[in-house]
Formats: sequence, C-alpha cells, structure tokens
Amino acid sequence: MPKSSFRTTVESIDVLTPTVKVFRLRFDPGAAFDFVAGQYVMVDIPHGDAVVQKAYSIASSPSEPGTIDLCIKLVEGGYASTYFHQSVHEGTVLTVYEAQGTFVDRGAPRERAYVASGTGIAPIRSMIRRLYERKGFDEPMWLFFGVRYEDEILYEEEWRRLAAEHPTFRFMPTVSRPKTWAGDVGWVQDLLRRYLTAPEQKEAYVCGVVPMVKAVKPLLIELGVPRAQIHTEKYT
Ligand SMILES: Cc1cc2nc3c(=O)[nH]c(=O)nc-3n(C[C@H](O)[C@H](O)[C@H](O)COP(=O)(O)OP(=O)(O)OC[C@H]3O[C@@H](n4cnc5c(N)ncnc54)[C@H](O)[C@@H]3O)c2cc1C
Repeated sequence: MPKSSFRTTVESIDVLTPTVKVFRLRFDPGAAFDFVAGQYVMVDIPHGDAVVQKAYSIASSPSEPGTIDLCIKLVEGGYASTYFHQSVHEGTVLTVYEAQGTFVDRGAPRERAYVASGTGIAPIRSMIRRLYERKGFDEPMWLFFGVRYEDEILYEEEWRRLAAEHPTFRFMPTVSRPKTWAGDVGWVQDLLRRYLTAPEQKEAYVCGVVPMVKAVKPLLIELGVPRAQIHTEKYT
C-alpha cells in the first residue's frame, strides 16, 4: 500500500557538531501525522528531475506537536546527507512519508540497555524522552554511546542532566579517538564488555551503522542477553 505523504517546512536547523545538524520539520496545520518513539520517516530528496528517498529516524518525542527533529550526519561523498547539510535551509519544503519501523519500546519489565554510535542515538533519544514524560518514571536504564571524538557526543548535556536527576539513568559514553578526553576510550563493544551487568535481565536496543550493529548483536548474545531481548536498527 502506498504510504501517505506529508508536506513539511524546515523550521530550524541546529548545528550539534561539525558534521551533525538537527533539522526541525513542521507539518502543515491539521496534518494527521503520528509516530511511535523509535520510528523513522522516508524523505524525498530532489535528484535532478527525479527524487530519491532516504530513511531518517525521528529524534524528538511524539509529544512535540506538529514537528519532528531529524539528526543528520554529513557522510563524505553522500548525496542525501550533503543535500541536507548544504542545500536545506529554514523554509525549505520537504516531503516525508508516514512513520515506519519496529524499533520501538517493547514495554518489557526489564532494565533497558541502549547501545548507540553516532546518529544512531536519534531514535533512542526519542524513546528515552518519551519514557521520561511518564509521570514518576524512574525505571533503570543504561545508555552506552560510542563516538569517534569527544566533540561528537550528541545531546551530551541532556544525558548528563538525566544522569544527575535520576540515579537509575546511567550514561556511559566512550570515545575511540580521544584528544583530551578523560573518560572511557574505545568502542561501544569495549564498554559492554566492561560494564554490562545482569545481561539476562536487560532489554537491549541497538542502533547505528551496519558494522556496529553487526558487531554488537553477537557480542550481547555472547555476554548473555537472550536473543529475543535484542532489538536493532541498522543505518545503511
Ligand atoms: C531506518 C534508517 C534510519 C536512519 N536514520 C538516520 C538518522 O537518523 N541520521 C542519519 O544521519 N542517518 C540515518 N540513516 C542513514 C540515511 O538513510 C542515509 O543512508 C545517510 O544519510 C547517508 O546517505 P547519503 O546519500 O548521504 O550517502 P550514501 O552515498 O548513501 O552513503 C552511504 C554510506 O554512508 C554510511 N552511513 C549512512 N548513514 C550514516 C550515518 N548516520 N553515520 C555515518 N555513516 C553513515 C553507510 O554505512 C554507507 O557506507 C538511516 C538509515 C536507515 C535505514
């Protein structure tokens, strides 16, 4: 069945790091767009006289009415990401399609372990924001987040604030090519080997580029997380 399309207008663009920008897209008034935290949208990207479609996870919570945030990394030589970073401005009109994807919270009565690298944090941010909107929510969760350089820790302030407000929220960043970073060094796989406890009690949500997800899933199984408790989203 063809997916419904929606007209959006870029309302704001925030520069998060030298290679990552957040684009806030506003729907036309009355648009019947909705989504579940963790889902993604396909976006039309003009390509000569044609369009190509690319998937982008929604980084904002479904509670933010009329808008979605897309957190997009500039990939060297990449057509769509270059289009976003170089040609999209405030006021640019973009067509997106109804939200899709099954990388959503399962509501299981277990500790959540989120594992992200780079912009793989986007759907996880949406899920975490959504959960903390529940009154009195204080269930344990772990965020294992890997980046190359310390200035690439997306939404760092937000994670540190959550960790300060909720002792049950553990923020575990790691940097693979540190400059002056004093925290953990290496990949998320190293973090998981170092810090993952009670694996059989974890519900794991893993998102990032294909090689990362392909490395992390078997590692989680090796460490003792049951296969059925591991949910993944691969950025291709
Ligand atoms: C379900 C889904 C959700 C996605 N959500 C996001 C998102 O929220 N933010 C986002 O930036 N991208 C996301 N992507 C990736 C996005 O769809 C594009 O593939 C990406 O923007 C590169 O497209 P391009 O045309 O610029 O480059 P292409 O020429 O298509 O280059 C593809 C290459 O870039 C690599 N790549 C793709 N995405 C990334 C990335 N985010 N970081 C580093 N390397 C990458 C791929 O591994 C591949 O080697 C998602 C992909 C899927 C399938």
